[in-house]
Amino acid sequence: MQKFWTLLSRGLLLRCPVCGHGRLFRRPFVMNEQCSFCHFRFEREEGYYTSSMAINLVFSELIATAVVLPMAYMPSIPVLTALLIGIPLALLLPIILFHHTRGIWLSMDHFLNPTTANDLPDRSAIIPQPRGLHEE
Ligand SMILES: [Zn+2]
Repeated sequence: MQKFWTLLSRGLLLRCPVCGHGRLFRRPFVMNEQCSFCHFRFEREEGYYTSSMAINLVFSELIATAVVLPMAYMPSIPVLTALLIGIPLALLLPIILFHHTRGIWLSMDHFLNPTTANDLPDRSAIIPQPRGLHEE
């Protein structure tokens, strides 16, 4: 269970789920192709982040609903006010949560389908490299 929380915290901190060192994003909304430390490829297959978009949409709409629904039942708050808060919230939250839902998705996938040494390139920093004959 500790591994789950470690992976979740790495996802929320936008770090590589394998090593926890490499950053997922090089700039806002642009992901690195692989971890700069262990070289784990962040996009494991075509359309890999479709599920993160679903997670993003669910979280965004749940938060927007949790804010707007109580306002709809309060007679002191006009419907127009609830709409003026709820509509921008529903539009902006998916943008605000974009990075972290990708990190959460990557961590969840790594928890359910862990990366093995065979999935990482040979030059990965977390795989012990065989010592060459020229080294002492
Ligand atoms: Zn890494």
